[in-house]
Amino acid sequence: MKNIAKVAFIVALVFFNGCKPAPLPYITEGDIGVYVSPVTILNSSHRSAVLSGVINNNNQELSLAGVYLSKTKEFTHYEAEISYQIAGVVVPSKDNIPVSVTVSNLLPDTRYYVKFYARISDKIKYGETISFKTLSLEEDDQSIIYDLPVIFHVIYDEPWNKVKNIPAEDLYAALESSNKMLNNTYKTKEGINTRIRLYPTPCDEKGVMLKEPGIFRIQNTQKVYDKDTFGSLKSTTKQMWDPNKVINIWTYAFDDKDASIIGQSYIGYTISTNPIGGLRYGDAYFNSAPGYGHGIQMSNRYIVNHETFSEALTHELGHYLGLYHTFTDEGCDVNNDYCDDTFAYDRQYYTKKFGVGNMLREECITHKLHKATNYMDYYTADFLGFSPDQIARMHHVLNNSPLVPGANKRAKTRSIQADLPIPEKRLM
Ligand SMILES: [Zn+2]
Repeated sequence: MKNIAKVAFIVALVFFNGCKPAPLPYITEGDIGVYVSPVTILNSSHRSAVLSGVINNNNQELSLAGVYLSKTKEFTHYEAEISYQIAGVVVPSKDNIPVSVTVSNLLPDTRYYVKFYARISDKIKYGETISFKTLSLEEDDQSIIYDLPVIFHVIYDEPWNKVKNIPAEDLYAALESSNKMLNNTYKTKEGINTRIRLYPTPCDEKGVMLKEPGIFRIQNTQKVYDKDTFGSLKSTTKQMWDPNKVINIWTYAFDDKDASIIGQSYIGYTISTNPIGGLRYGDAYFNSAPGYGHGIQMSNRYIVNHETFSEALTHELGHYLGLYHTFTDEGCDVNNDYCDDTFAYDRQYYTKKFGVGNMLREECITHKLHKATNYMDYYTADFLGFSPDQIARMHHVLNNSPLVPGANKRAKTRSIQADLPIPEKRLM
């Protein structure tokens, strides 16, 4: 009769719905000749955790076995306590029985204490207590790498012109530099690995392998474009690949009036069910394509300077993933970028006081001087990193929003229908 399940899974009985389980005063802790291991946390997220361990009942019949979970170390607060009862372990066996329990309905950003138990009649044996903390809503799984496919729409008129008809190796070098910035390969003090990586998408929209991965070349007779209208051109909208699957990056000749502009981008959206400051709801875009060319636009004249081009590309990607500038264009507003860990400064005041060649910035409220190091600043700065709050915003967009490829949970919001929220916002 060795039909005992090798792994004893949970029969989830949750006493967590406001009812207070009655204390069981007649139960006493004692040695009942069984082994109950400590809990190992295999995985924990915002609202659930996977616990594992081993119970050996030493060939005895157990009355109950399970796991206690509480918000207090002493397991005193019954209202926060959950007892999961484990089936299979109660049947006599000589073997160690692996136990795996998934607990759900937990609160985000909360510390829980857990211990396994085994009971025979009125005696109970506990395993060692351990604790874990669920992720906060803005925090996400540190193991996720956001690998984002990109397609460059290279717009040119003269095929021989390498500034316009940019060679593949230049575009790949730009991506590689941006990835180094995003992953803090430079290991700067100010830098943090964003866990965001760009790669050239290998296939076209029909799934056919591209001759040059991540590159789609478009020859036009038009020599230059006005950056203010480029995104809403019918041709641009038509060129756009599904932004839910790939990041569209256009390279074209910006008009001479915009010679100093390296790039611009539409800012990312959030969703109504999980909003964050400063971003508009984009729920409708789960179901319908935007009526404009959503993506990043880069001025091709800067491709000759990879580092400048890549810094700007990294900056534009920041906008694309929901970031604002660290500065204000005029006046002091400390919540200008919805990040608490970047310092705000008035750019117009800076330009007048220091001049654009100066690395120093004067903080809005404290008037402290800072060296400019953030990717969401403008020239002249040492572009060295994003802040933790900025990274959390980008991850929020990647996890929730439409019009971004990656690990987003868009299935939840698929059914939402609404009119398209136009016009959209472009940032340089
Ligand atoms: Zn910008």
